Amino acid sequence: MTTLELILLGTGSPIHQPHRFGNSQIIRGGDASILVDAGWGATVRMYQCGVPPQGIDAVFVTHLHSDHTTDFADLLVMRWVGGVTKPLRVYGPEGTASMIAGYRQALEADTRFRFAHHGEQLAPVGTECDVTEISAGVDPVEVATVGDITVKAFEVDHRPVMPAFGFRLERGGRSITISGDTNACPGLLNGAQGADIMVADSMNKAMMSMLEENIRRSGNELQAGLLADAHSYHNDVKDAADIAQKAGVKHLVLSHVMPAIVEEQTPQFTEGLDAIFTGKISVGHDLARYGIE
Ligand SMILES: [Zn+2]
Ligand SMILES: [Zn+2]
Repeated sequence: MTTLELILLGTGSPIHQPHRFGNSQIIRGGDASILVDAGWGATVRMYQCGVPPQGIDAVFVTHLHSDHTTDFADLLVMRWVGGVTKPLRVYGPEGTASMIAGYRQALEADTRFRFAHHGEQLAPVGTECDVTEISAGVDPVEVATVGDITVKAFEVDHRPVMPAFGFRLERGGRSITISGDTNACPGLLNGAQGADIMVADSMNKAMMSMLEENIRRSGNELQAGLLADAHSYHNDVKDAADIAQKAGVKHLVLSHVMPAIVEEQTPQFTEGLDAIFTGKISVGHDLARYGIE
């Protein structure tokens, strides 16, 4: 029996790539299905993996960067027309309520048109959400239970993005930690203690530097500069492996993969990591699934 299941929906970053969508993942256990982040393309991936938007019980948002949030509009409409009758539970940092209000406002005419056309076939709930803004420090703190999954939050270091959180989801003595976007930091070390799986923000900084050089040579100085800035607030893959080792993680799943490698580049992306981390390492890809017994 599977105690917890992880499904990666999107394993990419803000720059759109056809093979790695915006950051998003589903964690399932018992009757509960939880979405952590809703980056671009998450709703499409939900249909592809067989867990449609109306099957999601709650959403947890790590931070308010666009690559973790811009699919909320499609998510809210598709769960509504998918037949839900209750507001969507959403948990996230300060600013989440205002962000959700903004997406709902953008959909106001659409919602009105659909009510006018379909009438009572559609539930009155529309795109309504029940938003809780959370706070957490470097020690994981329980912020919600969804079904029999306990969700804990911890603060991570994604400065200047503040607050930014990681989440630890626990059920039946098993646990999955989602790092959120972060550098190696005390919050992540605490939040990942003994986790069966840690999904980690992962940038191979040497490969990124080569990519930036190629972009610069092609004449796109701006994009090369923006990518170079991103080094300062993401884990290098080696930092992710080091934290996983120190925290006693069993299985490290590299996600938020930068640069957006294809499968043949996996050996280069993970080179040297097995000397740092002695557990199992996977480079995540969109729609990958991992079960914990
Ligand atoms: Zn991100
Ligand atoms: Zn971010």
